[in-house]
Amino acid sequence: MKAAPFAYVRPGTVADVVAELSREGSKVIAGGQSLVPVLAMRLGRPAQLIDINAVPELSALSRDNGSLRVGATVRQRQLQREQVAATVPLIRLALPWVGHREVRSRGTVCGSIAHADPSAELPAVAACLEATMVLTSARGTRQVPAVDFFTGALSTVIEPEELLSEVVFPVAKPGEGFGFGEFARRHGDFALAGVAVRVRTTGESVDARLTCFGVSDVPVSVDVSSQLHAALETTGPDPSRADLLSALAEHTPDVADDVVDTTGDSHASPAYRRQLISALAAREVSRAYVSARDSESEGRSR
Ligand SMILES: Cc1cc2nc3c(=O)[nH]c(=O)nc-3n(C[C@H](O)[C@H](O)[C@H](O)COP(=O)(O)OP(=O)(O)OC[C@H]3O[C@@H](n4cnc5c(N)ncnc54)[C@H](O)[C@@H]3O)c2cc1C
Repeated sequence: MKAAPFAYVRPGTVADVVAELSREGSKVIAGGQSLVPVLAMRLGRPAQLIDINAVPELSALSRDNGSLRVGATVRQRQLQREQVAATVPLIRLALPWVGHREVRSRGTVCGSIAHADPSAELPAVAACLEATMVLTSARGTRQVPAVDFFTGALSTVIEPEELLSEVVFPVAKPGEGFGFGEFARRHGDFALAGVAVRVRTTGESVDARLTCFGVSDVPVSVDVSSQLHAALETTGPDPSRADLLSALAEHTPDVADDVVDTTGDSHASPAYRRQLISALAAREVSRAYVSARDSESEGRSR
């Protein structure tokens, strides 16, 4: 099958992009890795495609105080290669799981977040890190926290006349550690279930945030600090990763029961997804805790 006919424009400025977006039936094309298959299968029939790849300011990837700013045409692969992106370790942990190298070479970070596939890795990273989405239209710019951004499967708060012009991720601080894991039948496939984790340790205080994907219409974030505290009471404050993993595994089945709300599909039942989330959460929360603790002690010894 071929795509239905559409008009194509390639503006050179953000002002021209948003002017074009105010025409009815317009759609942004960034890397085309999700949109082109949609067009080819005629699941979407936009009247006009707005190619944003000729707008220089949308390709910016920069560190700004405590943030990493990722412009709309920054490729996923750039974040794997460019040093500045190492300041957000969770992105680096997640990206190898996104499709294949060829997909990441074209696909953009903002495109993945705008597309909002429930099984996609980068929306979960944005939710776990509490990133901020910057939306630009002819009316101006607004900032939306990740927690309010995803509204359903393949749905976000982006209005038809808005461009996701950049995503702002917080840079990792001393005492923070991260974990990421997923299960897919073949490497490069979308995940049946996956988790992104951020743990923060400061002196006696420890908090842990777990974001699950592939198990609901949107990434689901939960505070798992109490489960981590309970596990640390069993192991003591300086456990090996293996001991902490065993202790956490007592608590993660309850977390998984709460977060998995899919009714299941031909790939996996809800019960199987709960088992995956439970195992992945225990593994990645323990990894993130050990890494947070190491990062905190490195910070102290500097
Ligand atoms: C073989 C294959 C395997 C893949 N595997 C995975 C995987 O395992 N995990 C995963 O997460 N993804 C996977 N993908 C999808 C890939 O990550 C895409 O790159 C990504 O989902 C979309 O990014 P894009 O830049 O290609 O966006 P496009 O395809 O250009 O656009 C996707 C959608 O987002 C909208 N959009 C894009 N950019 C913006 C913007 N700046 N503002 C507003 N709207 C915008 C478009 O209008 C369109 O509706 C796979 C793709 C392929 C082809």
